[in-house]
Order: sequence, then structure tokens, then C-alpha cells
Amino acid sequence: MRNGILYRKASLYSTSRLVEAGEERNHDMRVINYLRCYMDISHPGPSVVYHDLVADRHAVEETLEFDAVVPRIGASYTFYGTALVRQFEMMGVFAANDSQGITRSRDKLRAQQLLSRSGVDLPATTFAHDARHSKGLIDRVGGTPVIVKLLEGTQGVGVVLAETRKAAESVIGAFRQLDANILVQEFIKEAGGDDLRAIVIGGKVVAAMERHAAPGEFRANLHRGGSAEAATLTPKERKTAVLAAKSLGLNVAGVDMLRSKRGPLVLEVNSSPGLEGVEKATGVDVAGKIIEYIENTAPRGNRKDRVGA
Ligand code: ADP
Ligand code: MG
Repeated sequence: MRNGILYRKASLYSTSRLVEAGEERNHDMRVINYLRCYMDISHPGPSVVYHDLVADRHAVEETLEFDAVVPRIGASYTFYGTALVRQFEMMGVFAANDSQGITRSRDKLRAQQLLSRSGVDLPATTFAHDARHSKGLIDRVGGTPVIVKLLEGTQGVGVVLAETRKAAESVIGAFRQLDANILVQEFIKEAGGDDLRAIVIGGKVVAAMERHAAPGEFRANLHRGGSAEAATLTPKERKTAVLAAKSLGLNVAGVDMLRSKRGPLVLEVNSSPGLEGVEKATGVDVAGKIIEYIENTAPRGNRKDRVGA
């Protein structure tokens, strides 16, 4: 098969592992910076053209012909990245995650609404337009301490712990003043700075790790200095992770959960989970599992999206 990996920032580890895993299985693998592509939408013959202006203004243009693509769309270019994935879908190219699933997972509010509808357990969460609703927003998640979270943050940036009501109200007011959209969320103290990341591929958990926040930090993100080790999930945690990926229509997902007194609670679902942390912590060939998933599924074409929101 001819497979394209769509990326923007060279996450060297993840892309090179996918190339390696594909080549081991005799596929043609290409790594394509999607910002260096443009689209021809018109009928007949919608296409994607690769033109590397950065390397050379006069570089030869190339029409991309793939059987499947693995999207690894960066958070800052979600609009263009998902439009390009959709273009490939329109051309009948199989996408490991389709554009709708990626879009849903990017917006924490939309994701939480869909997860909630599917009966996935979440930390108590509120959302408002007007900072004058702060009292209700805080009360309904059980009072302070609370987490205030930017809708489109990643890597732990944009996740704030407010210990007191005064602090929470100021943070909510300040974010809203800047027109930033935020969620107010129950702080799961008993998680103790640990979280779980389960990698779900084609409806199965293939690897799981537990991440520990650095000392003095409550965010377990590896980018925030957290450390990781392999984890064994309970059956309930497995079921929750699989249901979370399914609720957003994602074939490949990194589901983040907190271990709380009332069981696993889903924080978010990532559509391009980093491979380095989880492969190193667990020893699982996650890149290989993604390629195998594509091999088994691509011949049947893109599935009709059934999430419906
Ligand atoms: P990001 O997209 O930036 O990774 P997350 O929602 O995953 O945002 O939050 C980052 C980290 O902060 C989590 O991995 C977890 O360790 C911590 N965290 C987030 N929300 C909560 C919460 N409600 N209670 C306790 N810890 C939380
Ligand atoms: Mg996260």
C-alpha cells in the first residue's frame, strides 16, 4: 500500500516509527507536511498537490496518490489539517482517523458533550459565556478547588488549578475578558497528580501507561515534566477507554483518564497520541498496531461516521 503520514511539526519519533513499521510490512511510506499541500476541490478529479515552497519556490508540484493516510494534525492548524484529511476522504483514500473524529476531539467542550451522552463518566464540568455565572459554575462542580481549562489547550498548557473561590472567580473573569472559552471542572484530588493514558486502536486497548506529575505539579503531561510507566487497566478502565474512542468516532486514540474514588473519569481523547512515551514505557509496538489496523481496514474503505454530532 502507499501510505502518507500527514504531519506538521516533526515529532521525529512518532513519524519515523510509523515509517519504520510500514516499511517492515512492505508498504510505501511518505511523510508529508500538510501545510505544504494544496487542494483541488473541483469535479472531476479532486486532488491533493504537494508543493514544497519552503525547500524551493520552483520545486516541482506532485499530485499525491495514497491508499491510506495517517493524520497527525497539530493543534494550531486543525482547520487546514482536517480540511486536507477530508479532501483525502472525498477521494476515497482511507484515513486512520477521519476529519470529523479529529475535529470532535480537538474541542474539549464538544468532546465532553459527546462523551457524556454516551454515558462515559467524566469529572463534573460546567461551561458558560458570561463570567457573572461564576458562582453557579463553581458550585455545580462541588466548589473549590476547581480546574479551569482552555477548550483548545494541549500538553497541559491552559489547565489551571484554582484553590479558592476568589482565585477561581478571578481566573474565570480574566480568561473571559480575553474572550477565551473555558471549562470549569471538579478537581480530582485523589488522582494525586497521576493519570492514565490508554491507546485504543480499532476498538481495542493495545497499550496503557500511568503518568506521574513532576513534584509540586498536578498535571501529569510528559511535556510538563511527568514520568511514565506501563499500567494494567481494570476491566472498567478498558471499557471506558474503548467507549470514549467510539463516542468520538476515533479509530486511533489516546484516552486520558483519572483514577477517582468513583472509578475512571475521562479527561480527554487525543486523535494523534504521541508514540514515544507510550512505546518506551510499555514496550508495545504501537506504530505497528496502527499500520496493521490500516492493512485490515483500508480495503473496506472509510466507515460511515455514526456519531451524528
Ligand atoms: P491537555 O490537553 O492540556 O493535556 P488535560 O485536560 O488532559 O489537558 O489536562 C492535563 C493534565 O492535568 C491531566 O493529564 C491531569 O494530570 C491534570 N488534570 C486535568 N484535569 C484535571 C482534573 N479535573 N482533576 C485533576 N487533575 C486534572
Ligand atoms: Mg491531556
